[in-house]
Amino acid sequence: MNEQNNEIHFVVDSESVDNVGDADELDHELRYESVEPLDIEPSGNSSQEAFEATITAKPLMLIQRSHQHSKILPQVYNEIASKYSDYIDYGAVVPMPRMSPKQIKAYFNSIPDVSLKIADPESFARMDSFGKTLRDQRDDQPYVGPSTISNWDYLTKPLPNGPTKSWVSEVVSNQYESGATLILSPGLWLDPANSTGSLDSVREQAEWCREAVQDSDLFAVNLTLPSAWLSNPILLEKLLNVLLDLDESTFYIRVRWPLLANPYGQLLDTSILSGYIELASVLDENDKVLITANTGLTGWLLLGRGAHGLSTGLGTGERSFADTRVIKIKQKGPRPAPTPRVFESPLLHVIDKNTSDRIHALGNTGTCGCVFCTHQSSSTTAPFSKPNAGAHYLLETARLTAEVASADNRLDAVKSLVDDAVSLRLAVAKNVPLTGTNDPKHLSVWKNLLV
Ligand SMILES: [Zn+2]
Repeated sequence: MNEQNNEIHFVVDSESVDNVGDADELDHELRYESVEPLDIEPSGNSSQEAFEATITAKPLMLIQRSHQHSKILPQVYNEIASKYSDYIDYGAVVPMPRMSPKQIKAYFNSIPDVSLKIADPESFARMDSFGKTLRDQRDDQPYVGPSTISNWDYLTKPLPNGPTKSWVSEVVSNQYESGATLILSPGLWLDPANSTGSLDSVREQAEWCREAVQDSDLFAVNLTLPSAWLSNPILLEKLLNVLLDLDESTFYIRVRWPLLANPYGQLLDTSILSGYIELASVLDENDKVLITANTGLTGWLLLGRGAHGLSTGLGTGERSFADTRVIKIKQKGPRPAPTPRVFESPLLHVIDKNTSDRIHALGNTGTCGCVFCTHQSSSTTAPFSKPNAGAHYLLETARLTAEVASADNRLDAVKSLVDDAVSLRLAVAKNVPLTGTNDPKHLSVWKNLLV
């Protein structure tokens, strides 16, 4: 948030914002300054040898560390480990250049039992890549701010002739030094206007990375794509040809989505979703592994069509990688508090807490008994806890992933859960109509895509 002549500027990632308090909340999540203290206590059984990081046949759920509320994440991992580790793999991702090396080490030390650790280089944030557009969409605030960028030469080092072998090697060594166990290639923005040149560069950088990594089984080719690469069939075919031709078998792909319809919304564009499905299914048929970065429940949907993994997090900036915009308003006096929102897993959607309570009162769904919801409801006077609500979302996403993983047919399992959500919505509509930001607009889109 910026204040200029009583005009307040907010950065949001959705078309609708029905409460200025919500905008304030989203804005915080997109900012680079870490507000978390460093003294996070290690959790879990650190006397045990951590499992060696591997990519197995189980679906992978990655949790991206957010700037706010991340102190609750060690407890989330413990809950996921005890309940769902027979069915899913899980791992941790930090936005490497948006943290200091000390912060990354402290965070990784706080989750000693999580073996798969990624320090995402986010090289797309370079000013000669996607950084200028990101800054323009964020009220002139850079994606990687001054408090951390000085630690990461690879983000600012001039590359007048494009990426070099030594630059790629530096990106890799920074990840190892941060404690990462799964290494990513730099992940520069793939310009569709220069599709052949961009893809040649992906291939070249993958080769340089292969020479720099210690274990080629723990290396993923990292791509950051404008959505045209998925929605345009010609670009998608070019992309797939290169991915199938590479020796590497693991791909970590982040796609820039259009503005979300709702806060905490899902991708609704069917041409992009169809491209995701084509990408996931073709890679799967060719024994390649697709991890969709920053996809949240949309990534969960794709598990039914051949994707291997998804990443999500506590905040909207971790659940999607969507365009942002700036809202400018004149406001005096204190801003309203954010709307308490909860993940209503039977609806596969985040809705406001009052509406959730009204649905539960109808008796169609049970109340969640997870440790985070139990804390949330144990006091009627305590303020709504956003960390507990976010932790519930992560635990439920792990449960939904485990349900798909344990089914004989993953697509049927996803379809069944989407059908149940559509039915629940219809069943409650007369008493609790779901409108505005409570409307799970993605359900009908998903249902059509799953036939
Ligand atoms: Zn819960």
